Amino acid sequence: MAQSELWVATGNKGKLNEFKTLFDRDMPLVKMFSTNDLKVFSAPPENGATYLDNARIKAKSIRILKPDAWSMGDDSGLEVEALNNLPGVHSARYAGPHARDSENVAKLLKMMQMRAGANRNAKFVCCIVAYSPQKADGTFEEHIFNGELKGVITKTPAGQMGFGYDPVFVPDEQTQSMAELGAGYKNRFSHRAKATLQMIEKMKSWS
Ligand code: IMP
Repeated sequence: MAQSELWVATGNKGKLNEFKTLFDRDMPLVKMFSTNDLKVFSAPPENGATYLDNARIKAKSIRILKPDAWSMGDDSGLEVEALNNLPGVHSARYAGPHARDSENVAKLLKMMQMRAGANRNAKFVCCIVAYSPQKADGTFEEHIFNGELKGVITKTPAGQMGFGYDPVFVPDEQTQSMAELGAGYKNRFSHRAKATLQMIEKMKSWS
């Protein structure tokens, strides 16, 4: 039944794994699909000025194809105080349009080296836009969920788990990077987990 389907507008396997783990744990009857499951999908340009704009662009791109199911898009990024909150909405493309995670991390560490002595405070931010299945009268609901996680940027990468900037981010009150802490930590405390858990509560109460 389409109402128990959730379509996620991302091809990022790291993110998808995190969403899937949370839904499998807390809402196991939901069947999750992503744009990777579509034969043809052309991702819309992420040209919004904010996380919300980009999350909405992504969510709409899948809602239009799957109006009878739940659909969602998320946008996330890392904001570093000493870099005036960069890379921010450009986090995935910090070192260039098709940059690999390792290249983005290398650029971040280089930018921080150029600001020796500056504080290394940072936060991960996530915004999710979710659309409910279309109702009988053709309307649907839009819901917005936000989460963040504060921490500091390290001087060298550590750890093999996770993705993106996880190897150089140590959450407040932790001594290891997110790539060392791994899924057990992220799926409870990450920016994405916080936003997703709110979404799960909304879906549970939806009728
Ligand atoms: P987007 O939301 O797909 O535009 O990409 C967000 C980018 O932010 C990712 O490609 C990563 O570089 C970074 N990012 C977002 N969330 C995380 C995370 O949980 N760990 C590490 N990096 C992240």
